[in-house]
Amino acid sequence: MKCYMCALEGKDSEAVSICIACGMGLCMDHVIRDEVEIWEGGYPLPSKKHEKTLPKMLCKWCYDAYRSG
Ligand SMILES: [Zn+2]
Ligand SMILES: [Zn+2]
Repeated sequence: MKCYMCALEGKDSEAVSICIACGMGLCMDHVIRDEVEIWEGGYPLPSKKHEKTLPKMLCKWCYDAYRSG
């Protein structure tokens, strides 16, 4: 899979991860790894309280959307 963000910029980078929200391929330069508490709605785990945060791999757009929420 190729990095979608790089593709938009005319570059051709191999994706190392995917955004867990929208599923687009992301390279190391574009993936945002964030430790967050359980997301509203509980995706992808049941919405009970967890002691540890979950690492999330997000693209910039989904990260911004999450942060603005
Ligand atoms: Zn990229
Ligand atoms: Zn995304």
